[in-house]
Amino acid sequence: MQCYNAPRLVEGGNMPNKTMRVIVSLALAAIAALMIRMASAQQQDFSKVEIKVTKVSGNIYMLEGAGGNIAASVGEDGIVLIDDQFAPLAEKIQAALKNIGVTDKPVRFVINTHYHGDHTGGNEALNNAGSTLIAHDNVRKRLESGGPAGNGGSIKMDNKPAAKAALPIITFQHDVTIHLNGEDIHAMHFPSGHTDGDSIIFFPKNNVVHMGDDFVRYGFPFVDVTAGGSVQGIIDAMEKTTAQLPADAKVIPGHGALSNLDDVRAYTKMLKETSAVVQKALDDHKTLDQMKQAKILASWEKFSGQFVNTDAYIETLYNSLTGHKGEFLKHN
Ligand SMILES: [Zn+2]
Repeated sequence: MQCYNAPRLVEGGNMPNKTMRVIVSLALAAIAALMIRMASAQQQDFSKVEIKVTKVSGNIYMLEGAGGNIAASVGEDGIVLIDDQFAPLAEKIQAALKNIGVTDKPVRFVINTHYHGDHTGGNEALNNAGSTLIAHDNVRKRLESGGPAGNGGSIKMDNKPAAKAALPIITFQHDVTIHLNGEDIHAMHFPSGHTDGDSIIFFPKNNVVHMGDDFVRYGFPFVDVTAGGSVQGIIDAMEKTTAQLPADAKVIPGHGALSNLDDVRAYTKMLKETSAVVQKALDDHKTLDQMKQAKILASWEKFSGQFVNTDAYIETLYNSLTGHKGEFLKHN
């Protein structure tokens, strides 16, 4: 998931009227900007999206369109997809796979790295076309039930229950291996990372890994604390993964450009350093507002993005480290 922000409540306290008026008008402007952004996300014109195909290594390809990056193992046995972006793109994705020119065989399996709609939106169409959907147990549970998502603070949204045909029909608790195209494609669950159902997918013969949204390139990561995610879980997943991969492994991030293990290490370092700063502030009994006001993450400002800005990331760390999942307010 990449682009859901919700308005932040502004508390007036005992401020002078003029200050209050400025704050209220700023807040209204922010809400207006936000509503425009949400509307444009909902009405995103997928007809204009083109699917870009990049050969990563051997018979592994990366597909970029809108939403999370897709990995594809394309070979004599058919196609295995990791994630499938948004529903309206399913046909274009199938056409792009055919265009690679390696096989006319169908997508036999889809593994979802996690439940978010920008990674599972194509599930229903692919299932209807004959693909078998596979994911961690919690992906199926969260798709089936729908429910709140967010960082436990200012980023929040509500997911509708998915259609039956969009639900993975094979689920696993720890890991699963698909033996196709001469490779042991291995999906391994890492607990409490970007969500509570993330898997990292290894293509050992091709020396490629798809990290789902545990590793992203858009700056401070969105962590779905409300759905059981935590920054500590991501750090753990990144450290375990980098320790076991060859130094020249190619890394497909959940969002952003094809990467390598140095990129993953730099990202992990940022997560650890920022976690330590917020942990220290917690140890010093600072409140969330005090942390924001003191700009305790000013040294990492270059990671502040449109989607997860520094304040939203402080909330993420605060909620991750305290186990606070936030209160979810339903949209009207
Ligand atoms: Zn996500």
